[in-house]
Amino acid sequence: MESYEEAISKLSQLLSLRCDLEGVAAEKIKNLTAELEAADPEKFDPVEKIRAGFTHFKTQKYDVNPDLYGRLARGQSPKFLVFACSDSRVCPSHILNFQPGEAFVVRNIASMVPPYDKKKYSGAGAAIEYAVLHLKVENIVVIGHSCCGGIKGLMSIPEDGTTSSDFIEQWVQICDPAKNKVKTEYDALTFDEQCKNCEKEAVNVSLGNLLTYPFVRESVVNNKMALKGAHYDFVDGHFELWDLDFKIAPALSL
Ligand SMILES: [Zn+2]
Repeated sequence: MESYEEAISKLSQLLSLRCDLEGVAAEKIKNLTAELEAADPEKFDPVEKIRAGFTHFKTQKYDVNPDLYGRLARGQSPKFLVFACSDSRVCPSHILNFQPGEAFVVRNIASMVPPYDKKKYSGAGAAIEYAVLHLKVENIVVIGHSCCGGIKGLMSIPEDGTTSSDFIEQWVQICDPAKNKVKTEYDALTFDEQCKNCEKEAVNVSLGNLLTYPFVRESVVNNKMALKGAHYDFVDGHFELWDLDFKIAPALSL
C-alpha cells in the first residue's frame, strides 16, 4: 500500500489537473482512510486520550475532593515556584506529587531561568514577578534532569558559535557559563559525562540569574524566600536537592 502522504499528494496533482474528478477523489480519500484505520486498529486517537484522561481526573480526583477544589476555586497560594524542563518525562507535579494549588510551574527547554531582561525574556520575567510579588511563594526550585536534550544541544554548539536552529540554541546559551565551566573543569570526561555535569551547573547558573531580579533578591535577603537547585535522574530514579550555593551546602540525596 502506498503511504498516506504519497496517496494524498497524487490526488492533489490529479485534482489540480481535472476539476471534474473531485467526486472520485473524495471517494478515494474516504477509502484510503478506511483502509488505514483497518490496517491499524490501535491507531492513536488524541481526542479519546484527552476525553478518557479528563474523565479519570474528574471522577477519581475532582468529584471526590470538593473541599480542595472549592478552596482552589477561590484562589491559590502555592509555596513553590518551580522551573522544570518541557521534557515529557519530568513533570514536577508527577515526580514530586505536587497537588493542584501547591506549585506555580514554569516549563521551558532545559528548565532555564534567563537573566532579568524586559525585552528578551518577558515571559519568564512575568511568571517570576507574579509568583514572587503576588503569590508570595516561599521557595523557588530549579530542576534539571538526566538525558536533557536542551543541555546536550548547548554542549554541542561548536566553539565558533555557529547555530542552525531558529530558537533552541539561542535559548540554551543562557547557560553558556555552565558549559564553559564544564568544558574547563571536566575536560577529561566523556561527552555524556560532561552533559550530566552541565545539567547540574546549568541549574546553578539559573539560580544566579534569579538574583538579577530585584524582587527575588529582596525576598531572599529578607529571608522570605529560599532558592533551591535540584536534579532528577530518571535513569536510576534519583533526586538531588541543594541550596543556592552548591559549594557550601551539601546536596541532599533522595
Ligand atoms: Zn530537558
